[in-house]
Amino acid sequence: MNDVADRPRIGISACLLGENVRYDGGHKRSRFVTGVLAAHVTFVPVCPEVEAGLPVPREPIRLVGDPRHPRVVGTRSGRDHTERLAAFSAERARALSALRLDGFILKKDSPSCGLARVRVHPEGAAGAGRGRMGPPSREGVGLFAAALSGALPDVPLTEEGWLEDRWLRERFLSSVFTRHRLRLGLADPSAGAVVAQHAAHKLLFMAHSPGGQHRLGRVVAQAGEDAPGAVARRYVRQAMAVLAAVPSRGKHANVLLHILGYFKHRMPAREKQEILLAIDDFRRGVHDLAVPRTLLKHHLGRLPVDWLMKQVYFEPFPRRLGLRT
Ligand code: SF4
Repeated sequence: MNDVADRPRIGISACLLGENVRYDGGHKRSRFVTGVLAAHVTFVPVCPEVEAGLPVPREPIRLVGDPRHPRVVGTRSGRDHTERLAAFSAERARALSALRLDGFILKKDSPSCGLARVRVHPEGAAGAGRGRMGPPSREGVGLFAAALSGALPDVPLTEEGWLEDRWLRERFLSSVFTRHRLRLGLADPSAGAVVAQHAAHKLLFMAHSPGGQHRLGRVVAQAGEDAPGAVARRYVRQAMAVLAAVPSRGKHANVLLHILGYFKHRMPAREKQEILLAIDDFRRGVHDLAVPRTLLKHHLGRLPVDWLMKQVYFEPFPRRLGLRT
C-alpha cells in the first residue's frame, strides 16, 4: 500500500462513506468505496446539505421547476432552500478546486449531489399541491454537482452507481490515477517531463481514444514553444479529455495487437497463435481484459521491449483493487 501522502485525493459525498448525514439520519455506505477503494486513495468527504446548515434529520428536499435552473424545496413544506444551497455549493466548490483533487464520487439521485438524471418535479409540485402536476422529468443535476462541474472542469466526476459498470469504473479509475501520476510527474514541469509522461501513457490513451492520443502527441511536439507550466497544464487538461472517452473491447483489442506487433516475430508460431486467440476471445466477450493483457506482459518479460514494459497500460490503477475489466 502506498504512503497516504502519495495517494490520489478523491472528494466524495459523505453519506457514501457511512456518515449519518442523510435526511433520515442514515447513510448510503458504498461497499466498493469503503471496502476496496479506501485502501488506495485519500477521501475528502463533503455533505453539502449538512455543511450548508441543514439539520439531521431534516425534511427531504427535491428539485422543482425548470430542469436547467431548478429550485430546491422541502417535499412537505415547500420551503425554498435554493439560495442557501446554491451559495454554499459555489463557495465549497471553489475551495475544493484549491485542494487539487484527482476525482470526485457523488451520490446518485440526490437533489444536491446527483450528477445526472435527477428528478425535477413540475412547478407547484412542492408542498400541498404535489403530485397533481404530472410526473417528474429525469433531466436534473444536483446543485452541488453542478457547481463542482463548473469549478473543477478537468477533474473526473462519477456517481457511485456508475462504478458498478466495468467500463465506466475503468474510465473513472484510469482518469483518477493518471491525473495523480501526472500531478506528481509534472510537479516540476519541463518539456522533458511532459515527453516522459506521454511516452509512458501512450497506449492507455490509445485504448480510450486513438484520435485523442494523436492530438496529445501534438501538444507534446510543441512542448518547447511555450512556458513549461503552461504546456503541462494544457497537457493534463487534454489528457483528462482523452480519458473521458469510454474504452471498448474493440479499442483494447487494437492496442493488444499493437503490442504483440513489437515482438511477435521473435516467438514461435504456436505462442503467437495462443495470444491471438486470447485477444480474439476478449474481443468477443469470452475473457476479461486481464487475460490477454497478462499473457502479453508475461511474454514481454521473456522478450523485453523496453518502452513497452514501461507502459502504464499494463496497470493503470492498482491491481489490488481487484477489478474485473
Ligand atoms: S447525497 Fe449529498 S447532500 Fe445528501 S446526504 Fe449524501 S452527501 Fe449529503
